[in-house]
Amino acid sequence: MSDRKVSVLGVDFLHTTMAGMIERLKAHLERGDKTFVVTANPEIVLHAQDDVAYRSYLEKATYVTADGIGVVKAAGMLGQPLPERVTGFDMFMALLDIANERKYSIYLLGAKNEVLEKTIAEINKQFPNVRIAGSHHGFFDWDSTEIEDEIHSLQPDMVFLALGFPRQEKWIAERYDKFSKGLFMGIGGSFDVLAGEVKRAPIFWQKIHLEWFYRLLKQPSRWRRMLALPIFAGRVLREKRKQRHE
Ligand code: UDP
Repeated sequence: MSDRKVSVLGVDFLHTTMAGMIERLKAHLERGDKTFVVTANPEIVLHAQDDVAYRSYLEKATYVTADGIGVVKAAGMLGQPLPERVTGFDMFMALLDIANERKYSIYLLGAKNEVLEKTIAEINKQFPNVRIAGSHHGFFDWDSTEIEDEIHSLQPDMVFLALGFPRQEKWIAERYDKFSKGLFMGIGGSFDVLAGEVKRAPIFWQKIHLEWFYRLLKQPSRWRRMLALPIFAGRVLREKRKQRHE
C-alpha cells in the first residue's frame, strides 16, 4: 500500500480511497498499533495555515484524509488529484462495523451527555458485538487527567473524539505519547448524527457535492463557518498561480 501524500496548502493528505483507508486501518488494528487519524476539511487546512500549534498537532497525525469536497477539488487544481473524500462519519461507521465483526473495544469522548447516551444506545442496537469500554461527555475540565488516565488503563482498540475541531486534534496530539495502543480519531459532530440529533444530507445532496449547502440550510448559524470556503478557494487559486510562475 502506497504512503503517497498530496500537499494542499501545507497539509499532507494521504492519497487513498475510502476502501483503501479502511484496509489500512484494519491492518493497524490487527497489529495493535497506535494510530492517529485526522479528517481535514478546508476549515481545518486554513486553521493549520494560520495557527502554528494546530499545524504541529496535524504533523503528529499518522494520516490526514480529505474530509470535504473542497480539499479534493483543491488537490485536483494544484495538479495532484486525490481519489475521493474520506470522511470522518463514513470512517466512523466502517470502523464500528469492523469492531462489531472482531469484537473490538471502543471509547467514546464528546458531545452533550444525552447525545452521548443516545449514541451508545444506537451503537448497542446497530453494532451489538462492539464492546464499549468507556465514555465521557465532551464538556470536561481540560486540566484534569481523569479521562486520559481512564483510557490509558482501559486500553481500548479505538478512541473516537466528537469534540469538534480544533479541540479533538489538540486533545489527541497533546496526550498521544502517553498511550501505547489504540486508533485515535476526531469525528466532529458524528455522535449528533448517529444519535439522530442532526441529520446528514440525503445521498442526493452528497452526490452533487452540496452537503455543505444542505447543512447551511438546516443550521443557518453555520454561515460564519462557511466563510472559510471562499477564503480557502482564494488561497488555492493564489497557490496555483504561484505554481505556474515557478
Ligand atoms: N463539543 C464538545 N465539547 C465542546 C464543544 C463541542 O463535546 O467543548 C461537541 C458538540 O456537542 C458536538 C461536537 O462537539 O457534538 C461537534 O461540534 P461541531 O458541529 O462544531 O463539529 P464539526 O463537525 O463541525 O467539527
